[in-house]
Amino acid sequence: MNRVIAVTNQKGGVGKTTTAVNLTASLAATKRRALLIDIDPQGNATMGCGVDKSQLQRSTCEVLLGESDVASALIPIEPAGFSLLPANSDLTAAEVRLLTLMAGRETKLRNALRPVRDNFDVIIIDCPPTLNMLTVNALVAADSLLIPMQCEYYALEGLSALLSTVEQIKASVNPDLEIEGILRTMFDPRNNLANEVSAQLIMHFGDKVFRTIIPRNVRLAEAPSFGKPVLFHDKESRGALAYLALAGEMIRREEESEAPAPEQNNPEPDAAPADANEDSSNPHQESQAEYPDTVTPPGNEHAGNFDSPPPQ
Ligand code: ATP
Ligand code: MG
Repeated sequence: MNRVIAVTNQKGGVGKTTTAVNLTASLAATKRRALLIDIDPQGNATMGCGVDKSQLQRSTCEVLLGESDVASALIPIEPAGFSLLPANSDLTAAEVRLLTLMAGRETKLRNALRPVRDNFDVIIIDCPPTLNMLTVNALVAADSLLIPMQCEYYALEGLSALLSTVEQIKASVNPDLEIEGILRTMFDPRNNLANEVSAQLIMHFGDKVFRTIIPRNVRLAEAPSFGKPVLFHDKESRGALAYLALAGEMIRREEESEAPAPEQNNPEPDAAPADANEDSSNPHQESQAEYPDTVTPPGNEHAGNFDSPPPQ
């Protein structure tokens, strides 16, 4: 795995930051060298990692303005074992400054990342909920985008605006940008509309929709207030297991794309991966074949309500 992935959706509150923080922590847990970049002036990913955003010496702002290199702005996040390029509201000023530049304003992050790219197996960028110059910088720096989506009525509408921005960026500065996947977040299988939108997503985007589903889960919502990824808040929770399953699915997809069809003796190609390590028995690893329009996906019946108790 050697990829820069922008977690983006201009719709607010769909689970971008939750996904960026917890996916980074889950990939780090599988021994990937991971970097999380906060490029949102809200600084939520920064806070979610337990870093005080009001005390930053250097941040994404200085990096974008060329006042700091990336390496000297990184903060190690322990014990999770990944690095963070933090952000705070200074980024808003950085964006305004970028907009005054005549040339090269979209490529600031990509150029800044070049010296450290090979130090990491995966770089995850948490984008703001707008299609502004900060998001454009993320999409230009990225190899792919991961789109978290809440399966609700207006979800698809926002998606088409995002996809047309992606097409513009592909046509200009980043022709290799691809969709890593669409991730269904805060999913409640008891909600018929959620099931219908989910089925629509699969119809439109096929296997671009991650089979892993992130359930609505109170531990995921609590973890940022402790300044921790959910793995370090309640590692047995459905939320923690779901993000581990997502990391497993991404790794498996990557391995499959690198080594096409190594063996042909599995009669059920859509079955949950045997190599997804911690998550191979995870209920959030959904099989699309078993998931018709309005039927509850197996094992997801109690999403959000049946957390294991917190440790101690
Ligand atoms: P913004 O657009 O403002 O950056 P976002 O897309 O980054 O928002 P988050 O901040 O990740 O979204 O999530 C929005 C809210 O929903 C947060 O309070 C978060 O804790 C909560 N949340 C996210 N995912 C889940 C989940 N799977 N279960 C329960 N709560 C969740
Ligand atoms: Mg966010």
